[in-house]
Amino acid sequence: MKVNLAEAHASLNKVKEIHQKAKVFDGHCDTILKIINDKRSVKRILGKKSTTGHLDIPRMKEGGIDVQVFAVFIEDIYKPDRALKRTLQLIDCFYREIEKNQDDISLVTNYNQIEGINRAGKIAAILSIEGGEALEGDLGVLRVLYRLGVRLLTLTWNQRNQIADGIGESRTGSGLTEFGLKVIDEMNDLGMLIDVSHLSETGFWDVIKRSKTPIIASHSNCYALCSHLRNLKDEQIKALTDKDGVIGITFVPNFLTQEKRKTTVKDVVTHIDYLVEKAGIDYVGLGSDFDGTGGLPLGLGGVDKIPNITAELLNRGYKEGEIEKILGGNFLRVFKKVVG
Ligand SMILES: [Zn+2]
Repeated sequence: MKVNLAEAHASLNKVKEIHQKAKVFDGHCDTILKIINDKRSVKRILGKKSTTGHLDIPRMKEGGIDVQVFAVFIEDIYKPDRALKRTLQLIDCFYREIEKNQDDISLVTNYNQIEGINRAGKIAAILSIEGGEALEGDLGVLRVLYRLGVRLLTLTWNQRNQIADGIGESRTGSGLTEFGLKVIDEMNDLGMLIDVSHLSETGFWDVIKRSKTPIIASHSNCYALCSHLRNLKDEQIKALTDKDGVIGITFVPNFLTQEKRKTTVKDVVTHIDYLVEKAGIDYVGLGSDFDGTGGLPLGLGGVDKIPNITAELLNRGYKEGEIEKILGGNFLRVFKKVVG
């Protein structure tokens, strides 16, 4: 018994050591929307540990997060006519939260800034938009949003927009529009990450054909393990990884398994395993969807629990260098290559 305890302690220390050394990159959260919409007397703010929701700065520190992508999500009631105004309100909310917590977190717009901010002991925040409605069909808007610091655009949510159809448009399932093609070209020129999560399959193949740079799926899982429309089929995984992109495995229970049971951190790592087996170690990352999903797997109830993934990877025999790639190295490689 004593031996077992000692072993357990040693492996716990090992998890801590590997996790602290690794750069941890989360490719997707919807926390800004939760903050702007919180009408309770004690408002949720980024800087204070909350008993509700999934992500705040104290819990990010506990979880060892180095880089966090903050998505701006435009709710249906604002589409299509007020999408841009709503986007700007959310970006304003993001900036205000970042400024209030400038000792702990900073907006980053290129790779060198990530390194600098992390070296200063702070969290690097990447600004993204979830839904191309924000552009309101205008490339000039895209360029201005880039100037505001946006470095990642999820082309669609589930519905159709000016760029393409989302996965919810199963009757048509159309690909990129003429405007959508121009958006891809402009994002390539600006150096922005093109995100195909939520995009129709036809749209996915159009992006693969059109984009000159690697693309990402910021929060999607493997269709072979869970045949949900939000997940990527094997051919899609191959095409995306052949292009040197990265897939952020998401923690959303409905995208992990179709079995009617409680999911756990093991289910997340099973999707990681599958991608590693199919494509190799260089193309998988994390895309939690914290604050964008109601439920979460057991052992992953908030951003502070991310080290449980490291523990499970270690349990399954992954080497330290491989764990570093999964936790953030792969996302950072693609960010550096595309954004610069
Ligand atoms: Zn999403």
